[in-house]
Amino acid sequence: MANALQAIRGMNDVLPEQSPAWQFLEDTLREVMESYGFAEIRMPIVEKTELFKRSIGEVTDIVEKEMYTFEDRNGDSLTLRPEGTAGCVRACVQHGLLHNQVQRLWYTGPMFRHERPQKGRYRQFFQIGVEVFGFEGPDIDAELLIMTARMWKSLGLSGLSLQLNSLGTSAARASFRDDLVAYLGQHIEQLDDDSRRRLQTNPLRILDSKNPQVQAVLDAAPALSDYIDEDSRQHFNSLCALLDAAGVAYQVNPRLVRGLDYYGRTVFEWVSDQLGAQGTVCAGGRYDALVEYLGGRATPAVGFAIGMERLLALLETQGVSLPDTSPHLYIVVMGEAAQQQGLLLAERLRDALPALRLITHCGGGSFKAQFRKADRCGARYALILGDEEVQKREVGLKPLREERDQQKIPFDQLEARIAGLFGW
Ligand code: ATP
Ligand code: MG
Repeated sequence: MANALQAIRGMNDVLPEQSPAWQFLEDTLREVMESYGFAEIRMPIVEKTELFKRSIGEVTDIVEKEMYTFEDRNGDSLTLRPEGTAGCVRACVQHGLLHNQVQRLWYTGPMFRHERPQKGRYRQFFQIGVEVFGFEGPDIDAELLIMTARMWKSLGLSGLSLQLNSLGTSAARASFRDDLVAYLGQHIEQLDDDSRRRLQTNPLRILDSKNPQVQAVLDAAPALSDYIDEDSRQHFNSLCALLDAAGVAYQVNPRLVRGLDYYGRTVFEWVSDQLGAQGTVCAGGRYDALVEYLGGRATPAVGFAIGMERLLALLETQGVSLPDTSPHLYIVVMGEAAQQQGLLLAERLRDALPALRLITHCGGGSFKAQFRKADRCGARYALILGDEEVQKREVGLKPLREERDQQKIPFDQLEARIAGLFGW
């Protein structure tokens, strides 16, 4: 193995045994989103570097140090998308999807960030993202949060907590930023290198610091909530009232800020305490200024992104049981005539029973070897076809998961009998 090719560090294969969990996650979330009238959009994985620099912001972690940026053969600077919002807004503006209409959109796919790989933090990771355009009121913010709460419930997850904050308008943040910088400037010796650097570039991100010493300095810092403008405050209060009425619990976290520059007003995170340091499984908020900033008509917008790997880890930690995806039947065939008949019967069964998962044995081998394969793949029953069965136009049915005698089923009763076995 030493010389064999390996995947890139921080980029994972999803192996066949892991796929059922991914599919359960994707299917469940898609069903929830569809039930709220969301439509899927698929964007390219690569965009012009400029798009991310402009939308995410030059002084964010993502743009400063996490992007996979390269020159293509034309000398254009391209970047593997680190998140989906920028591309989604670009696509909506480009195709006129925001003219006199609202949009409720979702997408899924891989995102790329050059971070230090660790549990819950990868260089290629998957998100399901949601973006809603054209609503400025708190009702849509509330609906998005109610929808996420339904997602966790549909997945069978518990214990996730919702953190909520308002960032106000950019004017409010600007005056807060000035006072924060002035205050932190007086305590510069207690800040770590990261925070000192951010003091120059993106001081609001210091609020996010996990360093206890920095946290202690922040305890006496000016509070963003004192700077929030009246409209934003009302927006936030209405959102809280809507969540209260809907029975969605939340904590107001005055230090919650987002890593991306384009957020304003509502910001939120869904956090689990069962995932260690990487506990945020869903993050989002309002970005009313971005569409215009990227060249579209001013359009209010709000969205969120779910980190799929983290949600999967949580499903595993909480022992959520997945739908059974093992085959129902495995057809064992012995001899040329049986082989041919097996393929034909399998097609007949698939025509009649759309939910059926059925494997036809290929590649020959003894009955014993074939039964071993039937057993290993997890099938509930084996159907047995040899020369004698073909001649009598019947198949043997052998339960593989319980002690019961083999039965014979005439070819012409096959569909009905198999349907009966599974209660279809
Ligand atoms: P963090 O603070 O964990 O770095 P972030 O603020 O960079 O998160 P967002 O850009 O808001 O994260 O992305 C939304 C969600 O995508 C996160 O809450 C997380 O669940 C997931 N996510 C972000 N970066 C990664 C990563 N490198 N690996 C796996 N999941 C990630
Ligand atoms: Mg990050």
